[in-house]
Amino acid sequence: MDHDHRQVIAIDGPGAAGKTTVAAAVANHLDALIFDTGAIYRAVTLAALRQDIPTSDETELADLARRVLIELRPPSIEDGRLVDVWLDGEDVSWAIRTPHIDANVSAVSAHPGVRTALLAVQRAIADSARVVMVGRDIGTVVVPDAGIKIYLDASAEERARRRVVDLQDKGIDVTFDAVLNDLQARDAYDSGRETAPLRAADDAVVIASDGKTVADVVAEIETIARQRWDAAMVAR
Ligand code: C5P
Repeated sequence: MDHDHRQVIAIDGPGAAGKTTVAAAVANHLDALIFDTGAIYRAVTLAALRQDIPTSDETELADLARRVLIELRPPSIEDGRLVDVWLDGEDVSWAIRTPHIDANVSAVSAHPGVRTALLAVQRAIADSARVVMVGRDIGTVVVPDAGIKIYLDASAEERARRRVVDLQDKGIDVTFDAVLNDLQARDAYDSGRETAPLRAADDAVVIASDGKTVADVVAEIETIARQRWDAAMVAR
């Protein structure tokens, strides 16, 4: 790879581990961009469901992934969103975060053709800037030479508790058991797929966030950044 990815912070881990919340704070403190790669898989899934493309149809889905215009931008509305997600000119920031998308996104993301279609845009961002990238395979596949790799984990029960609170805050009625089942099914799908499965890179720092606050985890990651980057890079 020709680019220097020392300034890329990769945060991987299972669903609802708090990756995006932590990443937003780290990006803010370290004057970096944030790129939530799950949002692009979710946007493709939303487009597929709307167009009645079966989640098993790799060829159509890969074609769709190449065709749609997905834009991620800083939040335009203060309604709890961490990022604006636009799909073909429409604000889908919340439409991509429903239980229906949760239930289908792993099947769409497992197709190698879909992943390949979405790789170039992810690598282009990694090449362009200091960025905190959040996903499942950032440290292993998308940016294997990222300067800092974090694998953020938490027990399934803890993650389900957090996700229930998030969804209820948005007025979406869910039960703890349904959320726990969905998370466990997605984890199994994401970890078990052949292409770019969810796993910690060998050189990732694993942080278990049970019992830790967001601030604790953010501070841990910033300490690692300060240790790895020289003072000039941190201050910028
Ligand atoms: O992070 P988030 O829960 O929004 O991701 C939604 C889904 O997108 C994951 O369950 C996974 O199937 C897929 N994903 C992926 N690779 C990434 C990011 C997300 O396969 N880098």
